[in-house]
Amino acid sequence: MSAVEAPAEPRRALVVMAHPDDIEFTCGGTVAQLSDDGWHVTFCLVTSGDKGTKDPMLGPADLGALREAEQEAAAAELGIKRCIFLRVPDGHVEDGSEFRGQLVRVLREVRPELMITWDGYRGFNHRDHRTVGIAALDAVFPLSRNANSYAEQVATGVEPVRVNTVLLAGSNEPNYFVDVSDQLDRRIDALLRHASQVQAANRDEMVKRMRQRAEQAARAGRTPWAESFRRLTFGGASTPRRSDALKAEAQRQTEAAEARQAEQVERAEGSNG
Ligand SMILES: [Zn+2]
Repeated sequence: MSAVEAPAEPRRALVVMAHPDDIEFTCGGTVAQLSDDGWHVTFCLVTSGDKGTKDPMLGPADLGALREAEQEAAAAELGIKRCIFLRVPDGHVEDGSEFRGQLVRVLREVRPELMITWDGYRGFNHRDHRTVGIAALDAVFPLSRNANSYAEQVATGVEPVRVNTVLLAGSNEPNYFVDVSDQLDRRIDALLRHASQVQAANRDEMVKRMRQRAEQAARAGRTPWAESFRRLTFGGASTPRRSDALKAEAQRQTEAAEARQAEQVERAEGSNG
């Protein structure tokens, strides 16, 4: 008789970025690779990019709706089914307690072991990128893991969560490189889904630039087709230390009991023989 094994629960990742297209520009290949490897990946877009146009006739509400649709189409290209839109106005992300609470709630609901976000500490760039990167990191550590932080969420049954690994995109000091050479076409197809931002006519030009960057990287001795991150880890265990200690103690007691029993059996056999 063969035991029927329950399928392992898929590993979960959350990508928190400021604007539609941030993901595809920084980590589209990594996300597609995670999806191919069986991970459940969720996108969280803080703004809907409602200011990003040169067209004076396109107001924020229409542009925001258009860019959300583009983001969902891009996500589908990368194998991602779920996008969460927080709809903070583009260019106005403020790192306050309320915003961090929104991110904590998303983390506690999605329950990822890996989060990808902007490196908020890399110096000057779009203020939404800086603010989202810093707030998302604060939300991972320590806010989302402490039951006393945003306790009103916990009171409604949203459990604290420990995220073990964070990959910071756009970092000046990358220490982690993901080979995305299998994902180049999908990455470009996903980028081109952001038609309000990226000209499809430029596809050949984009491929040429990516190839040049890959050749530069290879000459410098780095992985040629890689997306780069700064990787932070927050301890391997996803369960609290106390229960780990209790488990270790229980294991120690079990082993001691088994050893005692083996000794008794040996003694009994010895006296019989
Ligand atoms: Zn952006």
